[in-house]
Amino acid sequence: MPEPKPIGNAGELSSAPCYTVADVPPGAPIVRGKLIWFRDRSSGRPLVGIKVERCHRCRKKHQYLWKWSWGIDPAAMSYQAGMCRVEGVAPCWVGLDPDQAAASEAAYRESHEAFEAWKPGHDAAMAERAERKAARTAQEPATTETTPTPAPPPAIEPQAPSPPPPPPRPATVPGLMWGPPAWPKEARR
Ligand SMILES: [Zn+2]
Repeated sequence: MPEPKPIGNAGELSSAPCYTVADVPPGAPIVRGKLIWFRDRSSGRPLVGIKVERCHRCRKKHQYLWKWSWGIDPAAMSYQAGMCRVEGVAPCWVGLDPDQAAASEAAYRESHEAFEAWKPGHDAAMAERAERKAARTAQEPATTETTPTPAPPPAIEPQAPSPPPPPPRPATVPGLMWGPPAWPKEARR
């Protein structure tokens, strides 16, 4: 087996593999706890984790990551960043405690029910958001495409006839170069 990469945070959980006890190197300690479930603070999505009430190394509480799809078989193993300060933060193998199977089973079932109840509302909200985004992106190119193209022609055309007809000046003043007054008349013919 290739050297496993420990999960460092919840963001890495979705792509993390689930191992089995057979993958755990001989002699490597396994941290075991019970399955718990809670909600993601921002999305409300039910999530599961493994709670270790009393760590056998540091005697403190720890909570490790877990995926619902990994199930509750105590043979399932996850390799994660360590939580024990006393022994540094060395990665460790995490799994479910068979002695707390009843609590894990209850959390497993409850979290699934909560997920089934949460999903339709979440899906509807996501679909609505996608629709709004699609509507926005459909409008954006339309406005940017139409404005530049028709804009230049009206800007130029009114200017061509706009030079006011030169005032009829008596061409009696010699020395004054009133050439321009002559050509509009010719152009009109
Ligand atoms: Zn510990």
